[in-house]
Amino acid sequence: MGQEILILGAGYGGMMTACGLQRREIPFTLVNEQPYHQFTTLMHEVAGGRAHTEDYRMELQAIIDPDLGRLHVGKVTAIDLKERRVRVDDMFLEYDWLVVALGSETEFFGIPGLQNHSLQLWGFESALAIRQRVERLVKEATRDHPARLVIGGGGLTGVELTGELADWIPRLCEKNGVPLDAVKLMLIEAMNTILPMLDSDLQRQAMHILQEKGVQIRTGTKVVEVRSEQILIDGRAPLDYSLLIWTGGVRGNHLLAESDFPVDRKGRVPVDQMFRPAGMTRVFVIGDCAAFPGPDGRPLPPTAQLATQMGEHAAQIIDRLLHGRPPVAFRPRLRGTLASLGPENGIGELGTWKLTGAAARFLKEANKARYLWSIGGWKALSRKRGQIRWA
Ligand SMILES: Cc1cc2nc3c(=O)[nH]c(=O)nc-3n(C[C@H](O)[C@H](O)[C@H](O)COP(=O)(O)OP(=O)(O)OC[C@H]3O[C@@H](n4cnc5c(N)ncnc54)[C@H](O)[C@@H]3O)c2cc1C
Repeated sequence: MGQEILILGAGYGGMMTACGLQRREIPFTLVNEQPYHQFTTLMHEVAGGRAHTEDYRMELQAIIDPDLGRLHVGKVTAIDLKERRVRVDDMFLEYDWLVVALGSETEFFGIPGLQNHSLQLWGFESALAIRQRVERLVKEATRDHPARLVIGGGGLTGVELTGELADWIPRLCEKNGVPLDAVKLMLIEAMNTILPMLDSDLQRQAMHILQEKGVQIRTGTKVVEVRSEQILIDGRAPLDYSLLIWTGGVRGNHLLAESDFPVDRKGRVPVDQMFRPAGMTRVFVIGDCAAFPGPDGRPLPPTAQLATQMGEHAAQIIDRLLHGRPPVAFRPRLRGTLASLGPENGIGELGTWKLTGAAARFLKEANKARYLWSIGGWKALSRKRGQIRWA
């Protein structure tokens, strides 16, 4: 009896499915482009020079039990739903059950020049590239030729990255003997606020904290075109820049639409309460790839918090189906949002609690510990403890 379970993607969703199956002693194959699991929600810390870079990724081999999980490092290039097989580089892997957890990609909204002229903060390698570019630009900056670093997008990713750079740049300037006013850091956002998921009072506080750190914030600033050293803005004067980091939005992995999954306008696959796309019974789409309906029927925003819960639940669904039991509908537990504003500061909401400063930062660090424990217990926690700063 063939019961090949194939998990595509070893990010937050895929990793939790793999760990859940492993706990239930159900064999599976896990495919991922890199041989490591990257802590994507912490990539702003890598880009902003916070700690040792190796603290932010973990070899898959250190998490997956070789007796239960087969690892396949390679790039998924096609999913053949009719033939129940997946192309990984130049070979095919067949499946009986498929979990698609390939994450999302940066959304460029068709803005001319944006993709070519910007860096994006996504995985580990992109975070390293940003870190190196920032270091170089700061080193070369002078008052006559300042380094102008622009972050595009005032959502969670853009704000956390800005907070991190705002703390790192003064240290970099001091180390390289560069005057602080030779480096300009700006956050631009098309909407009239940053962190739209938070309450307006917290939005104002976040802006204030970043401005106190020397960040220029421009809301209502809609990018219409990007040229090699200039950003063209709707109805306003162009902005000169040395480095543009675009974090303005995400869409589902392009492979989904290319592989004939039904997708919404953000390239995500609408799924039911058991993560099944319409008409499919043995395929589950989770994490950023899925458009999972929230209480108002609209898809929930893509977050690691949701992806990890979906991953855990997908393992439970597969377990029940393999044992001839009906699957249970997924009920997300949305705890709230926490954003770091540099290593020492944070802001967020947990239920009805509003948190700022050290309390928010502490909970953010506690979340890191909780996540490490969930993927690898004491071993993961002790190996990657460098990413956590309790004091
Ligand atoms: C800087 C930053 C900060 C963030 N902060 C937060 C936060 O504080 N809280 C929060 O909840 N969310 C946050 N997010 C969002 C969160 O990271 C995502 O929602 C989450 O990673 C989605 O999990 P996933 O499993 O769907 O995809 P991912 O975690 O992105 O995993 C996808 C995996 O699939 C692999 N993959 C992709 N394509 C292929 C392919 N073709 N072949 C093989 N492998 C492939 C990738 O390498 C990756 O390992 C942040 C994101 C960023 C970038």
